[in-house]
Amino acid sequence: MIPAIRGTHDILPGDVQKWQHVERVARDLCERYGYVELRTPVIEREELFAKGTGETTDIVQKEMYAFTDKGGERVTLRPEATPSLVRAYVEHGLDQLMPATKLFMMGPMFRYERPQKGRYRQFHQLDVEVFNMGDPAVDAEVIDLAWSLVAALEIADAELVINSVGCAACRPTFQKALLAALGDDLPKLCQDCQRRAKTNPLRIYDCKVEADQPIIDRLPHSVDYLCEACATHFAAVQRQLTDWHIPWRISHRLVRGLDYYTRTTFEILGHALGAQNALLGGGRYDGLVKDLGGPDRTGIGFAAGLERLVLALPETAKIAATPRAFVAAIGEDGRAEALRLLRELRQAGLPAQMEFEARGVRAQLKRADRLAARVTLIVGGDELARGEVTLRDMQTGDQRAVPRAEAIDAARALLARDGAHP
Ligand code: AMP
Repeated sequence: MIPAIRGTHDILPGDVQKWQHVERVARDLCERYGYVELRTPVIEREELFAKGTGETTDIVQKEMYAFTDKGGERVTLRPEATPSLVRAYVEHGLDQLMPATKLFMMGPMFRYERPQKGRYRQFHQLDVEVFNMGDPAVDAEVIDLAWSLVAALEIADAELVINSVGCAACRPTFQKALLAALGDDLPKLCQDCQRRAKTNPLRIYDCKVEADQPIIDRLPHSVDYLCEACATHFAAVQRQLTDWHIPWRISHRLVRGLDYYTRTTFEILGHALGAQNALLGGGRYDGLVKDLGGPDRTGIGFAAGLERLVLALPETAKIAATPRAFVAAIGEDGRAEALRLLRELRQAGLPAQMEFEARGVRAQLKRADRLAARVTLIVGGDELARGEVTLRDMQTGDQRAVPRAEAIDAARALLARDGAHP
């Protein structure tokens, strides 16, 4: 046996229904909020992330599946979606085609991280991005979409945390204050923090090393250093969230690992998840489109980890199973007619199955039960002679004869009774 690569997973039948549920809820919500889907390749030029995600990030420095392809080009499996979506936005001139662009995408991402529960090397994200809309109401709308997604999935113990990291005008002052406050404590921090202090000091707030925490807790807060425009923007975001009754808490530590964030940053934590408890995270990145060679357009978005949303689903999640029909045959004549009926059901748009190995009717009904069939249509010699089909309601066990010509409609009526398909 050749096993799957460490950190990657097969999504097996049984679990796949949960995935489909999460994907369906996400897609419906995105469309309800006016987002359109865009799909990009899983493979991109390495420099897109070096530039977009940032040279100093852990993602680019340690985690990319990057290699030289047979044509000698440096390429990588995408570690995140935002730079790809920005690239597509710029490359196709979407700012001209759709002046206020709201995009979403779902798909696999790849990071060479140490696998643990909730952290994988191939994982999947829902990614949502809005371009060319700088109003704080847009920040609130994006956060609302994220919050509504978690609520629609009935995920308990979720908490929204927000922060503002300022902009190119005010961040340098904050960084100076941060380094000044660190002062003599800097050599006491971990090696990663020493490196961060040189390359991107804000990311010291991301540090998880236990011994560093008391020092980091004493550091200044970005919200105290915002310029007037950033402070006004952040206040408006908070007002809008309050007006929509979305509960939030400010986390001064929320600077996020990526280089491109400006102003609003946010995360939704799923406290039932354990160590890897970030369900989703995002924020504003007003300079990124321009940095990647595009026009000067604002951007804001978030990425949600689908594995984590699936893990956080409650046991009681109402995952609608498609009600299906089963066809049971008695004898050779019954079998020929049952095969005919099976295809008719499917052609009529109804999910239907049959047992192809010749077996007794009792065994076939057992099989129908295991498949959670809602209705079984039984065809045998007696039914054939009378031009009928026996319809068995698998929930109540009631059976009745219906004329062959009405069998499809009768099955459809039973399948539709529970309010689902078709
Ligand atoms: P990021 O792109 O790092 O901001 O991550 C956004 C979201 O993607 C996180 O909140 C997680 O839900 C998910 N995520 C990030 N990295 C992983 C990973 N290695 N395995 C599973 N989910 C991940």
